[in-house]
Amino acid sequence: MKKFVNIFGNINNDKDIIDAADDFADLSKAKLIPDEGFDAPLYVMWELTSTCPNKCIYCYNDSHNKRVNELSRKRKFEIADELINAKVFQVCLTGGEPTCSSEYFDLMRYLRSNGIEIGTILSGANLDRKKIRKIAEYVNMIQISLDGSKPEIHDFVRNRKGSFDEAVNAIKGFVKLGKQVRVSFATTKYNIDDFKNTVELCKELGVESVRTQRLSISGRVKGNEEAIYATEKQFEELEKYIYSKKAPIQIEYRSPAEHIEFGIKNGYATVMRITSDGLVGITPYIDVYFGDLNKESFNDVWRKMKKGWHNEVMLSLAKEMNSRQNGTLLDPLTEKIFL
Ligand code: SF4
Repeated sequence: MKKFVNIFGNINNDKDIIDAADDFADLSKAKLIPDEGFDAPLYVMWELTSTCPNKCIYCYNDSHNKRVNELSRKRKFEIADELINAKVFQVCLTGGEPTCSSEYFDLMRYLRSNGIEIGTILSGANLDRKKIRKIAEYVNMIQISLDGSKPEIHDFVRNRKGSFDEAVNAIKGFVKLGKQVRVSFATTKYNIDDFKNTVELCKELGVESVRTQRLSISGRVKGNEEAIYATEKQFEELEKYIYSKKAPIQIEYRSPAEHIEFGIKNGYATVMRITSDGLVGITPYIDVYFGDLNKESFNDVWRKMKKGWHNEVMLSLAKEMNSRQNGTLLDPLTEKIFL
């Protein structure tokens, strides 16, 4: 596959399996996707824990405290074996703050040494030079969140003093080791006007690219949209800057709706979300689950989920989620549902 763009906009150039296709719509048109869907997800986003020292005002999965039924160490390694046997291409270890999980480093090493490409999303918390070196050894894609060019802005949005310094130190540490670091910037009304300055800081720090998008209305944004969401005027300014192509490094401005639109059009699941308590979703932005890895095997859940976008309930929810004209996704549910 020439360009496999996952939901984080990550492009894997080295997947030479299906060279002719630019995206999944091409694969589908060329009838390269089996009628029954893929044998395994291409990309698994694994929230190892919900524990996080930060409490960002926009957190899409409402992380901060540990959940009651988080997967045990034993079950996590069984799932890792299942992912390896299924030949999943890429696993992104995330959270919460994944470094708060005592299995983070062991799982990373285990998955990587069994052929799975690893990505990770970090806030910069809990890291020292030794840990940065360890992560750099195993991880292909490192994403660090930076929500402003100075502590007053970043720490406010992340709800914790000191989080700006942690993020900057982590970026410096990985860059020093020659790793490509991608920064993600969340667009809230409090920091969006500082995007240009943040990009300039990223350039100084040696960051590869900056990714941003509209927030999805889920997690902590749900019910607080008015207080958090940037105004259309602010987005206009942001887009003016992005489309002027004056940014000193690459900007990835993507729609969070891309994988939903692909799902609605083609019916196939490509992404799997595993929550810290083992629930399995088809997209991280809605509380719909196809199974529970505390009770079921990975293969059994995948069998139910791989044509999940054909499910009528999922399809109508996806249309509702994707109903905003500006590309914002909205989780319309008031409680979790299982399909
Ligand atoms: S650092 Fe990430 S996981 Fe933690 S609260 Fe912020 S957005 Fe959520």
